[in-house]
Parts: sequence; structure tokens; C-alpha cells
Amino acid sequence: MDVPIVHHPVYSIALPAPHHFPMGKFAALAALLRARGLLAERNLFLPEPVSPELLELAHASCWVRALLEGTVDPASQRRVGLPITPTLVQRALASAGGTLKAARLALDYGIACNTAGGSHHAGREAGAGFCLFNDVAVASLALLAEGRVQRILVVDLDVHQGDGTAAILANEPQVFTFSMHCRCNYPARKQQSDLDISLDPGTEDRSYLAILQNLLPHLLCGVRPQLVFYNAGVDPHIRDRLGRLNLSDRGIAERDRVVLETCLAAGIPVATVLGGGYDRDLAALAARHALVFEVAADLMRRRYSRRSSSDS
Ligand SMILES: [Zn+2]
Repeated sequence: MDVPIVHHPVYSIALPAPHHFPMGKFAALAALLRARGLLAERNLFLPEPVSPELLELAHASCWVRALLEGTVDPASQRRVGLPITPTLVQRALASAGGTLKAARLALDYGIACNTAGGSHHAGREAGAGFCLFNDVAVASLALLAEGRVQRILVVDLDVHQGDGTAAILANEPQVFTFSMHCRCNYPARKQQSDLDISLDPGTEDRSYLAILQNLLPHLLCGVRPQLVFYNAGVDPHIRDRLGRLNLSDRGIAERDRVVLETCLAAGIPVATVLGGGYDRDLAALAARHALVFEVAADLMRRRYSRRSSSDS
């Protein structure tokens, strides 16, 4: 059994050059996953663009309308930091649809991964920090609205605080938001998640992993989620341009393993979203983002080989 992977070619669109957002990483990641045999037709799922009705579960209708009608004002464009074109909006709709699809697949198969998503700075009224729609908030509220699940945990390990997710879901008792991030980093004004762990700049693998390993089992016991959204941003890496933490490749892979293994051992499905990563070296960046897919594939193989050996 392969890990279901949600991907769409529109995830990588052309941006006016030069632009410091590494848009090419999504195509580079998909190519790498195919080359490593982790992504093939058999486990590729195409997302559908998320509908305005679902977007409005998490966002103000004026923000949704402004994006869909192309009437975003210049100040809001600056907060997003990307030129808001119809193609960028189409991409954001696919990406949010991808996170919802990954969540549904995770509920069916145990794990599923979106090759985009994790737009955690988008707030209810406006976007920010390269994020238009908050895909995890939209997907969470969509699944709650249809009654598919009653309790959700967001584990956001991107180096930046999941401020938009925290704000949108602040009054939603069925979703618990957990963000572990660098305290001296964007956004300057933090929001309050249900649990925030603010790390000192320069935090390395050993102390980072110790905190996570201690905390996660308690969190799962306390929240008892039926689904976890995992933002596996790779910007806590030591070489990341926007990071300020000092995790190694091995540390990132171990982090991903801790999250996925702990959740699966507790019988909780996990949908992973890509999150941030800003190394200028696209090949290194794609390889770093591929780590969570490798860990997921490994755990999925073991899960199903255990099942088939116990069946026989
Ligand atoms: Zn980030």
C-alpha cells in the first residue's frame, strides 16, 4: 500500500522574476518523489478547487470575493507578498482543496500527504506571508461541518507561528491548535494558539526533539483527536534563509518520524501539509520536503505488511 499523495501541476506557477518565494520547489518535489518511486499514477490524487462556500467557513466573504473577483487592494497584496493574479488564486484554491482531500484520504488510509498547503498565516479577513487561504482551517471546519470528525489537532512545526490558524480557530473548541516555532521570527505579533512553544533561536536537534517527544503523547491523550493535520514546514532547518533554528536534515526526518509514528501508534490518522522552506538551493529544498513523504511511505509499508502478516 502506497501513501496517498495529493498533487496538482498548478501548485507550481510562474512568478515574475526575480522573486524570493521558491515557487519551483513544488514541481521539484513532485519530480523527486516520482524519481524515488514514492509518487506514481497509482497513489496520485488530484485535488478539486475548494468551493467559496467552504472557504467562507474560515474566511470573511469579503476576502473570498476580493480574491475570486480580482479586487484585492494594494495594502492586502503587500501583506501577502506575492502578486495576486488569477493563476495564483487558482493555485490557492487547488492547494486548499488538496489539504481537504488529503484529510479525507488520511481518514480512509491512515496517512495522506499534500505536496502543498500549510498556508498558516492567512487570517479570517485577509492573507499574509505568502498565504491566501488557510487550507488547514478550511479543511478542519469543512470536516466538522459535515460531521466526519468531532475533534481535530493541528500540529504546526513550521518555524513560523501558525498565527492565522490560531486566530481563525480561537473560538472553535473542536480544534486544538499547537504551534512550535522560533520566538524571534515572523509574525512579529503572535496570536494565541491553544498551545504555543516558543523556541530560542539556534535551537538544535537534540533539545527540539526532546521537547516534541515529551509533549506529543500528552497532547494526544488530552485532546483525543480523530484527525491530525501536520504542518511539516522545513524552515526550522539550519540552512533555511528565513528560519533561525538549527535543525539538521536528520533532525527534520526524526521530527517527522516522531509525529507520524506517535499518531499512528495511537490509531490517529494524519494528513500532512508542506509548509515553509526557503533554501535558495531548490534541489536541497525539495529533498528536505521529501523527508516527510519518505517517513510516511515507510510507516505505511510497515503498517500494511503487519496487517497482511497477521491476516495470513
Ligand atoms: Zn514558515
